[in-house]
Amino acid sequence: MSTARLIDPVLQRMEAVEREAKRLSGLIVLDGRFAPALTQETFDVENPGNGEIIGAAPRCRADDVDRAVQVAHRAFAKWARIPARERGALLLKAADRLEAEREGLAQLSSLETGNALATQTRGEATTMVDIFRFFAGLAGELKGVTVPRADGVFLYTKREPLGVVGAIIPWNAPLMQTATKTAAALAAGNTVVLKTAEQAPLAVLKCFEILQSVLPPGVANAISGFGEEAGQALCEHPLVRKVTFTGSSAVGARILHAVADKIVPVTAELGGKNPNIVMADADIERAAKGVIAGLRLQRQGQSCTAGTRIYLHDDVYEPVMERVLAAIPTFRIGNPLDDATQVGSIISRTQRDRVERYVAMARKTPGAKILIGGERPSDPELANGYFYTTTLIEGVPASSPVCRDEIFGPVATVSRWTDFESVLAEANDSAFGLAAVLWTENLRAAFDFVDRIEAGFVQVNQFSVAEANIEYGGTKLSGTGRELSAESLVNHFTWPKTVIVNTAAQ
Ligand code: ADP
Repeated sequence: MSTARLIDPVLQRMEAVEREAKRLSGLIVLDGRFAPALTQETFDVENPGNGEIIGAAPRCRADDVDRAVQVAHRAFAKWARIPARERGALLLKAADRLEAEREGLAQLSSLETGNALATQTRGEATTMVDIFRFFAGLAGELKGVTVPRADGVFLYTKREPLGVVGAIIPWNAPLMQTATKTAAALAAGNTVVLKTAEQAPLAVLKCFEILQSVLPPGVANAISGFGEEAGQALCEHPLVRKVTFTGSSAVGARILHAVADKIVPVTAELGGKNPNIVMADADIERAAKGVIAGLRLQRQGQSCTAGTRIYLHDDVYEPVMERVLAAIPTFRIGNPLDDATQVGSIISRTQRDRVERYVAMARKTPGAKILIGGERPSDPELANGYFYTTTLIEGVPASSPVCRDEIFGPVATVSRWTDFESVLAEANDSAFGLAAVLWTENLRAAFDFVDRIEAGFVQVNQFSVAEANIEYGGTKLSGTGRELSAESLVNHFTWPKTVIVNTAAQ
C-alpha cells in the first residue's frame, strides 16, 4: 500500500470498498447463500471512475438460470403460503438489515456505477430501504372484492401470487431497481430470480446477501450474466411466470417477444426523452432550478426521467438560461467516492462513446450550438475515468436523432418557443412517453398540459423522481405496467381469481 493511500481518507475508503468488491467477486446468491455458479467463465467489473478492474462476475447461461429458477420454484410453494403479514414482517426485518448496511451498499454502488456517493448512492440506499418498508406494509392489503349476487351465493375475488418472478435490471440505479422489483414481488408471495446488470452486479449481490439473513432460502436469488444469455434464458424459462424489467426500449421489445409464447405478464419500464417546458409566466428562479434538477446531474443524466428536451418560452429564455449556465459549472465533477463530488462518471467507455457520438452529430448540424460542455473534463486526475461535462445544445432540429433518441448521458437540447400548441405538439412528437414537466403560474394552462401530454409521469412546477407511493411508468415506447404503488403490487405481481360459492338450496 502506498503512503498516499494510508493518509488520504478517500483513497482509504476506496481501498476498503475494493476489498469488499473482491469478496463478492465470482459468486451468485442461490438458495440462501453465496454459491459458485455452474459456469466457469466470468466477466470483469470495472470502476468507471478510474478504469480499473475491481472484480469479476459469473457469466451465467441457461444452466445457471435453470438451477436458480428451480430453486425459486421450490421455495415458492412455502413462501406463498406464509400469511401475508408475516411475509411483510420478514420484509420489514430485511429493510432494517439493509438500513444498517446502507453506507457500505452506497459506497460499493458508487465504485461500480460511477454515481457520486454524496449526491446519488447514499440517497438511493435510503430510498431502497424505504421501498422495502412500503411494500412490506402493503403485504396484508392484497384484497379482493365481494360482489352482491343472491342469497346463499358468495361471489368474491382473491389475488394469487404468480410464482417465480424474473427480474432484470439496468446499471443506472441498481439499489433502487433491486428494491422496486424484489420487495414488491416478495410482498405479494412470489419468489425472485434477479439478473444484475453486467456493469454493476456487486452492490446488488450484497443486497441479496443481506436478504438471506432474514428470508427463507431460495426466496430471493441473484445471478449475473449477459442480456442475450442469462437475461433471455430467464425470460424464456417455463417456470418464470412474470418478468419485470427496466432498461432500453429495444430490449423491452425483445423481452415481450421472448415471453409471448408462454403468455406471462411483463412490466417494462423503458426509455424516455422527456420534455421540460417553461412558460412565459413561470417563476424564473424555480424554473431554472427545475431545469437543472431535470438534468439529473447526480447520475450524469443517466436517468429515464431526465428532462432532456428543454423548451423555454422566448420571453424567459435569457433569464432562465443565464441561471442554468451559471449553475452547471458549480457542480463538482470528481471521484465518485469523494464526499465533495457532486457529479461522477459515466458508466462505461461504451456509454461515453455513445454520448460523444451524439455531441459530434450536433456539432455537425447546421445552426446547432453547444452552449456548455461538449467535452471531457480537463482535470488530469479524471483522465482514466469516463467523465464528461454536462452539455446543453441549442438549435438542433426536432427531427435530429439528438432530439429524438434517448442518449442516456449528460446531454440535453434547449429550444425557444412562442406558441403553446406548437410546443405541446413537439413535446408529444416522440416515440417515448415517460415523464413530462411544465413550469407555469397559470392553473388553466397547467391542467390543459396535464390533459394533453402523452406521458405517464407528469409534474407541474416541480421536478422530482419516483419513490415509494409515487406510481411510475410510461406509455408508448416507454413501456407498460406501473411500479412503486399499491395498485402496481396488486395488478402486476398477482393474478385475480373469481370465486363463486353457491350454498343456496336448489
Ligand atoms: P442499458 O443500455 O441500460 O444497459 P439494456 O436494455 O441493454 O440497457 O439492459 C438492461 C438489462 O437488460 C441488463 O441487465 C441487460 O443484461 C438485460 N438484457 C439485455 N438484453 C437482453 C435480452 N435480450 N433479454 C433479456 N435481458 C436482456
